[in-house]
Amino acid sequence: MRYTTFGESGYQVSSLGFGAMNLPGVPFEQAREALNYALDNGINYIDTAAAYRNSEEIIGNSISHRRQEYMLATKTGARDYATAKSEIERSLTRMKTDYVDILQIHYVNYPQEFATIMGENGAYQAALEAQREGKVRFIGITGHRPDLLAKWVAKGEFKQVLFHLSLAQRFALDELIPAATALNMMKVAMKPLSGGFIQPVDRALRYPFSQDVHVTISGMVSVAEVKENIAAMQREIDAGERDELERLAVDLSEHNCRRCNYCSCPLEISIPDVMISSKIRDTFGLLPKGDGFYQKQKDRILSCADYEPCKEKPLCESKCPYHLPMQQVIQAAASYY
Ligand code: SF4
Ligand code: SF4
Repeated sequence: MRYTTFGESGYQVSSLGFGAMNLPGVPFEQAREALNYALDNGINYIDTAAAYRNSEEIIGNSISHRRQEYMLATKTGARDYATAKSEIERSLTRMKTDYVDILQIHYVNYPQEFATIMGENGAYQAALEAQREGKVRFIGITGHRPDLLAKWVAKGEFKQVLFHLSLAQRFALDELIPAATALNMMKVAMKPLSGGFIQPVDRALRYPFSQDVHVTISGMVSVAEVKENIAAMQREIDAGERDELERLAVDLSEHNCRRCNYCSCPLEISIPDVMISSKIRDTFGLLPKGDGFYQKQKDRILSCADYEPCKEKPLCESKCPYHLPMQQVIQAAASYY
């Protein structure tokens, strides 16, 4: 495990962070063991969110007695002051702690949303107030539009930023990471497996590990997964491996989807998952979770080619800020079956 100085906090943070999003899906005892095993073996960054079902409660019931051993980050999805204030209080209660190290404004993807958050009655004011009261140490932001995040953090109002970085989504490298580095921000990468699609796991984790980020959060639900993830970060990266990973990332991110979710499909095809996974699927095959996704979406994906309202002009494509060829990629995915 590598430890680096985590921006302004000065904390020596572990390169692997525990993503607690999926813990509500496993038995409590398994979750408790995984969290404690992670702390016992050098992980000192725990990431959750108010929106992740009872993830915060699981953390509170599993590791609140070891609060001094880790940096705790949670998120509020509220946009207004009052809701954010009550959500922050609820997070503290659920996690049985007096403070969180990082409170992130969650999933900010539209300029209008950002304006609301930063306005007079916005969620940012609640975060500032909690900071003054000692309930929040640092304020961060998360989102799926790296280009917009780069602009939003430039004013220095956030000390931490959480963004996608994987072999299939390398966009944060363009503007966001350099901007955050210039401001000495805490840089946290998420979704190294891009939601359970990218394999081999070892390479998927080593890609963000090879980049200018402090922590990579990986969603883990068992001791076995924690062990596998820690093992991927035991060995340092040399220049040869860094170049090889970069070449692979350029190839696998061919479809350029940022997972901003601006698009929607009347057939409920999960467009970003198909966009992001299609090159990986053809190159390495899929992890069981990814294969399950394609089985579930089979009828929908096969229906895209015959969907009359999209014959002349695909309904999804007009919504994509990056003008990506979604219809073509979805229809090509039909060959997977
Ligand atoms: S082109 Fe296909 S994926 Fe796009 S909206 Fe139409 S049916 Fe959905
Ligand atoms: S296809 Fe375009 S609109 Fe849809 S999630 Fe990806 S980048 Fe966003």
